Amino acid sequence: MDAGATRAVASDLPSLDRLLNTARFVALIAQHGRTPVVVAARAELDHLRARALAGALDREAAGTAAIAVPVEERLAAAARPRLRAVFNLTGTVLHTNLGRAPLPDVAIDAVARALAAPVNLEFDLATGGRGDRDDVVEALVCELTGAEAATVVNNNAAAVLLLLNTLANRREVVVSRGELVEIGGAFRIPDVMRSAGARLVEVGTTNRTHAHDYAGAIGARTALLMKVHASNYAISGFTASVQEKELAAIAHAHALPLAVDLGSGSLVDLSRWGLPKEPTAREVLGAGADLVAFSGDKLLGGPQAGIVAGRRELVARLKKNPLKRALRTGKATLAALEAVLVLYRVPERLAERLPTLRLLTRPAAAIEQQAQRLLPALQSALGDRYELAIAPMRSQIGSGALPVDELPSCGFRVRAVKGQGGLRRLEQALRGLPRPILGRLADKALWLDLRCLDVTDEADFIVQWSLLAE
Ligand SMILES: *Cc1c(COP(=O)(O)O)cnc(C)c1O
Repeated sequence: MDAGATRAVASDLPSLDRLLNTARFVALIAQHGRTPVVVAARAELDHLRARALAGALDREAAGTAAIAVPVEERLAAAARPRLRAVFNLTGTVLHTNLGRAPLPDVAIDAVARALAAPVNLEFDLATGGRGDRDDVVEALVCELTGAEAATVVNNNAAAVLLLLNTLANRREVVVSRGELVEIGGAFRIPDVMRSAGARLVEVGTTNRTHAHDYAGAIGARTALLMKVHASNYAISGFTASVQEKELAAIAHAHALPLAVDLGSGSLVDLSRWGLPKEPTAREVLGAGADLVAFSGDKLLGGPQAGIVAGRRELVARLKKNPLKRALRTGKATLAALEAVLVLYRVPERLAERLPTLRLLTRPAAAIEQQAQRLLPALQSALGDRYELAIAPMRSQIGSGALPVDELPSCGFRVRAVKGQGGLRRLEQALRGLPRPILGRLADKALWLDLRCLDVTDEADFIVQWSLLAE
């Protein structure tokens, strides 16, 4: 047969109008809306016209039925949510870029209820008068930390900003040089100080700060002594820092408050589950701190939020600051936070009920068994292009908590049979799955730490790998 007879020319293509009037496109318009369908159809026609002019378009590909297929694909891709569930096999449990703490079902249900109906967010059901949205969780925070009062804002960065702006605007805050940390790029203590209008007075040195350093820095313009919990780094060796109790005594001797940015802010002693010890909000307040600030979505295992707890009169000033209005949380956050805090009332069951703690306390042996279970499915999906092995690895808690402590874990080490390029292709293909699988490229291997793969997600995980093989 003559090759020319099977080739389409540009005039073989249907007009945009004719295309849009076919039944298939009418259905697409009903589903996706007219404008997106017109844009996608026009783009596809342009593409086909260029191919026809190049003599590279088959007759069958120029028919309306054939044109609908790629248009449907374009529309489906555009309709896919931008925010998608992924498998976090990076080995970092509280991964800021992956949204940190996964929430327990009770919190998810509470969020759904709060979003679906009107709620008494700022309405006092007892009096019928106006309420304060902090009331949703304030009593719980006080119960769990021993604080007199508490307030909640959008995240811990906002909590520190609000605290500094309220208590130290145009005045001085004394902080140890060893604690002038940067947390995840955009949050640096000195920058937050400046944004809050507070003047930073650095004392001590990077590795050693003493009580007399603080005492010597206090003057007429001092508003606050502040301590920042070590995040993302550890200073080891010849070090000295002043603990909360001593620092509180110095502050109070000068009638000044002590504020502590706890960062992660645990509400329970994690050593109970064999995890490294973090100071709890209760301990730090008990040691004399007047205010503590901490995140809702780090070790606490809740939604993104920042909590300030401590002395009643100081918290009352924070609530009155107009910035509070700008930094406040929405009802979804408060609903989730309340549900998570309620779980802390029964610490004995926390490791089974709170996903973050459940993931952090998974024994390496259980993770290895999971790897053994999954190995055959992954092996058949990868074929002989990659070499797959079960390997011990170390997970990190993440989000600046306990920076030097790593948890023994297990997972897969994938190597390309033919060099590094193949490995990048695999990493990219895993990222391109309907539910992307994210690992870590290092030492010419892709490392997939299974710590954060919930057993209930295993079936879906295997489905994703089977899609990879297609
Ligand atoms: C993480 C962290 C913050 C910021 O908290 P976000 O909830 O991420 O805003 C502030 N201070 C310290 C010490 C931290 O570790």
